[in-house]
Parts: sequence; C-alpha cells; structure tokens
Amino acid sequence: MFAIAIHGGAGTIPRATLTPDLERTYRAGLQAALSAGYDLLRQGAPALDATEMAVRTLEDNPLFNAGRGAVFTHDGHHEMDAALMAGHTGLAGAVAGVREVKNPIRAARLVLEKTEHVLLAYPGADELAREHGLPLAGPDYFFTQQRYDQLQEALAAGRTQLDHAASPAPTPPAAPDPNWKRGTVGAVARDQHGHLAAATSTGGMTNKRYARIGDTPLIGAGTWADKRVAVSCTGHGEYFIRAVAAYDIACLIEYRGLDLAEACRLVVHDKLAPAGGEGGLIAVDAQGNLALPFNSEGMYRASRSEAREEVVEIY
Ligand code: ASP
Repeated sequence: MFAIAIHGGAGTIPRATLTPDLERTYRAGLQAALSAGYDLLRQGAPALDATEMAVRTLEDNPLFNAGRGAVFTHDGHHEMDAALMAGHTGLAGAVAGVREVKNPIRAARLVLEKTEHVLLAYPGADELAREHGLPLAGPDYFFTQQRYDQLQEALAAGRTQLDHAASPAPTPPAAPDPNWKRGTVGAVARDQHGHLAAATSTGGMTNKRYARIGDTPLIGAGTWADKRVAVSCTGHGEYFIRAVAAYDIACLIEYRGLDLAEACRLVVHDKLAPAGGEGGLIAVDAQGNLALPFNSEGMYRASRSEAREEVVEIY
C-alpha cells in the first residue's frame, strides 16, 4: 500500500487569529504539496522522489518556513537547512546554512547522489547547487513581509531563540512560546515497492544566531528513514537534536518492538513534551501506516494513502 504524509510545521498561527480566508490558503498549499507527492507514488515513482516533490512544492510556497518564505536570522539573512533519506539504501543527503539555492531539498538530493558525503554546509553547499545548475536566487526572492515583521518583533522583544534554547531544560518556557514564528516542511512516504523515504526543509527559527543549525539536516534528529520507518520532525530543533528524536522512533520499533503509533506517541508526548521540546512529526512504516502526532497547539499536516482519502488538518 502506498502512502504519504506531509507537514508544514508545528509553528502554526494561533487558532484565534486564523481567518477563514487564511485557513483556506494554508489548506490549499498543503493539498497541492500532498497531491504532487501522491501522484508520483500512484505512478509507481520511488518514495524518495515523492517526498522530494512534496517538499519542493512547500518550499515554493511563501506561507511556509522553507525556501521562499524562510524566516530571518538575527542579522537579517536567510539560512536554510534540508535533508532527505532513502530507507531501503540507507543513503542520506543534507545541506545546512544555504542562502542562495531556491530549493534546498534539491541541493540535499545532490549531496546524496553526486557526492560521497552526507552533509554540506554554508557557501560550499550553495556552490554544489550552482555547479549542478540548480536555480539560485538573491535575498529578494526569499523575503516575505510577514517573516520580516516577525524578526522585528523578536528583536524588539529583546529575546533570542538561542537564549531560549540554552535555558536549563527540563521545564518548559514560562512565557508563551512564539512557535508560530517557526515552521518547517516535510514529507514521508511508502512507495509501491515498499520502500520508505523522508524529506525535511526549513528556514529554522526566527532570530536565530547566524550559523545556527537545527535538527532538520541532522540525520537521526529531524530526518530519518530505514526499512521499517521514515520520520520527518518539526519543532524546537535543539530539543529534537538532544533527543535524537527521529532515530529514537526507529529504535523503539526495532529494539522494543513498538508499533508506529506507540513509538511516535512515546517520543512526542512522553519524552519531548516534558523536556520542553515543543513540536511534532510525521511518520510512515513498512505497512503504510501513518502517524502525525504533535504536542504544540497545531501542526499543518496532510496525508493520503491508497486505502484512505486525503486528510488535511491544522489543529
Ligand atoms: N525544527 C526547526 C528548527 O529547529 C524549526 C521548526 O520545525 O519549527 O530549525
């Protein structure tokens, strides 16, 4: 059974401020990305292609914090991270801190296919994209007023996400977390051959210190796929890195024999949440079961399988 799930980040707009028009726009964006991936699966394409295509579609949509529409760093730039992994080969590719490539997930695919490495960062990663003719763009392309305003608010509030992340866990932050200033996009899929893949892409967190790298491009933290499960995470990256969240789900399935839903629940609600690790994830197993748990107010998400109609949800 082929199946796909996507997310547009756990950093949702607070429910009280989501207008019906905006909700329709978000839903349409999720539906477009889901269909792009699902159509490929239906045609028999590999899970890796389907996840990459779904993520590319979300990267091109300025509503989501990845590619066009990425959040701003403290010093007013965009630094984007992305990764993908093919479960049946165990091969992975990732980029961190890219500033020019329009679709960081395509650069991650180049790392997987054209190099013997797993993770390239900063100008060297943009350089690989340039060498292979991927479309590049300047800051104007990545600029959105909404993300710019969010940076100004964060600067005015005098808070940095770095201070926030360095606060001694395990207690959650007392102040309301501006999680809607975050976001990430991702996809997981099982194809007709039973192969699994995961892909994730992000601008990171508003007001992040320059050169900060989140969980997204770190294989095992924000992105993972093997023969049993594929996982793509979203949330406060530092917590997901320390928890090795995506790989922990694979371990719970492989070593403890948990089913997908229970493994995901345990990581998101029993491990991350008490530590203050707000966010969620999407996952698919070898049977095509899907799980989309989160401990934040919402998570933009959508899923569809051969056996089940499309579902699009926010809260
Ligand atoms: N996990 C991402 C990061 O920390 C942000 C997010 O998913 O909201 O870079």
